[in-house]
Amino acid sequence: MRTLIRNVRVFDGERTVPSADVLIDGDRIGEPGGPADAEIDGTGKTLLPGLIDAHAHAFDGDLAEALKFGVTTELDMNNLPPILAAQRRKAAERDDVADIRSSSLIATAPNGHPTQIMTPDLLKALGTDATIDTVADAGQAKAFVEARLAEGVDYLKIAIDDGAVSGMRLPALSPELAAVLVEAAHAAGLKAIAHTVTAREAIIALDAGVDGLAHLYSDAGPDDAEETAARIASYDAFVVSTLTFIEAVTGDPGSVELLRDERVGPRMSEQAKATFNREFTDIPMHSEGVTNASHAALALFRAGVPLLVGTDATPFGPVHGASMHHELLLLTEAGLTAEEALTAATSVTARCFGLADRGRIAPGLRADLLLVDGDPTRDITATRAIADVWRRGVRQSRA
Ligand SMILES: [Zn+2]
Repeated sequence: MRTLIRNVRVFDGERTVPSADVLIDGDRIGEPGGPADAEIDGTGKTLLPGLIDAHAHAFDGDLAEALKFGVTTELDMNNLPPILAAQRRKAAERDDVADIRSSSLIATAPNGHPTQIMTPDLLKALGTDATIDTVADAGQAKAFVEARLAEGVDYLKIAIDDGAVSGMRLPALSPELAAVLVEAAHAAGLKAIAHTVTAREAIIALDAGVDGLAHLYSDAGPDDAEETAARIASYDAFVVSTLTFIEAVTGDPGSVELLRDERVGPRMSEQAKATFNREFTDIPMHSEGVTNASHAALALFRAGVPLLVGTDATPFGPVHGASMHHELLLLTEAGLTAEEALTAATSVTARCFGLADRGRIAPGLRADLLLVDGDPTRDITATRAIADVWRRGVRQSRA
């Protein structure tokens, strides 16, 4: 099957061409020319690479919900081995769900983050009686990485979080154990990504050698944000945004705008809509955490640190798929241009995670594509006006 999209504005993952023809040839992007089986008039529309959510946790129908909103790949940042195996199988066999990469279980200290959230009751609700391995010493650290390698993970995730931001006191991995974990990952050719939520934790993780941070830091005021950004820029590491997650954990009601957006709300699954059933009334503006993290996002970007768009979507909110569009909006409000934000949701993430076959529109790459009405390089919310989505060349029905 060869489908030609004619006369369409193309954001290719890095820059924008006002008008071009793009050929979808089977599961790949082809070279335009020769006969096509079908044509789509792209006038007034913009074609983008499928979005990559650089921080998610995929359960149940989450990968289908993601794809519906143009997210063609989710980078899962902590999951349970039996559930992950099922999700990966689904992504390999079906074209109506987003693709997935994953760390499987996150490495953490006994009783450390996120064991306070991933209680036996929650695991049961997620459909598994799996137990969570933790890491108390160097021997367990090496065994942990071995177990993840046996599962065929795509990268390692570790947690360094003492709970202070959420008003708790949690045991955290020591810098020494973090370094043992990262070394074992690197020795096996895997990148290591750290869950950190403060500037101090970010530096501990970077000193341990991690390749990326899974969240912005949200504890540093505007002045400190720049100093920390300059320091982080001295390491060769990327940072995933997750402003949407920081809103959720600080009780900030910002993401409710998704539910009210006619392009988004009515298309959400009932499960996704249900995650908004919370009291959000009396908070007039961004929480301090979101304000701090927004400053951090811009400071890191200006300091040259690769910034990746991620939501921390879970079955309990932030929602899969739709949240990417809110995250993009928040990043433009933080000071990135729309094109910079889109780059951070496509080619930058593909490059940082070694996903050479996606994140850009170019002949030979996977036909993971998003076609929208309007021009999201000028109005970022136009990414929500979804006309079509292709996953490895398969056009998704809007039914
Ligand atoms: Zn997460």
